[in-house]
Amino acid sequence: TDIKPVKSDYRIASDSLFAPFEFQNSSKKYVGIDVDLLQAIAKSQKFNISMDFVGFQTAVDQTQAGHADGMIAGMSITDERKNVFDFSDPYFTANATLAVKSTTTDIKSYKDLKGKTVGIKNGTASQAFIDKNKDKYGYKVKVFDAADTMYESLNTGSIDAFMDDEPVVKYAILQGKKFATPIAPEKIGEYGFAVKKGTNPELLAMFNAGLAKLKANGDYDKIVEKYMGNTD
Ligand code: GLN
Repeated sequence: TDIKPVKSDYRIASDSLFAPFEFQNSSKKYVGIDVDLLQAIAKSQKFNISMDFVGFQTAVDQTQAGHADGMIAGMSITDERKNVFDFSDPYFTANATLAVKSTTTDIKSYKDLKGKTVGIKNGTASQAFIDKNKDKYGYKVKVFDAADTMYESLNTGSIDAFMDDEPVVKYAILQGKKFATPIAPEKIGEYGFAVKKGTNPELLAMFNAGLAKLKANGDYDKIVEKYMGNTD
């Protein structure tokens, strides 16, 4: 069965900074696993896309409002989101982890966050986890729109920790950020491409067909390796 696009161009919303999934390279061009993967899928399934890197919560809002046809943003497939989104087959597995400064020695469990301030990015699965456990552990929460300001706030000490997806924190550390991850990660679900529930079914079907093809022919692994060095 050959699925055909019904739109000449699909507008896809994404995060503004979620390396190695989407980020600007040294020539300010957006690259990353999500970007390369979607482009390769679009090419293989013969549909056109334009991507806008608007930030995670804005991507959610634009997709829900129908201003974007879909979103790819390292977005975890959660039961809550399934009420308002239809997801593709999973394309990546990632947990969320707490990050502290590498010089921090007094945070070894969530209990140690009592009286401290934890940063999270608006609309994320990490935010849901951190909000849910706020009263239990007695920390304060600071919400950010993007990762760069959140990371900078940890460096300057205006927050004591933040929670973000593990591959993203690990990548930041590889890039030289002086962060540590002292607590075992939390399962938040696998990443999926998403459309507003009940819309653009052909787009989801083309994504799934393209993803299956790229996994079978090795191109998926090549894309992941290009940005992560390995597929683990
Ligand atoms: N995987 C996380 C989520 O879905 C974070 C995504 C992101 O920050 N781009 O909430």
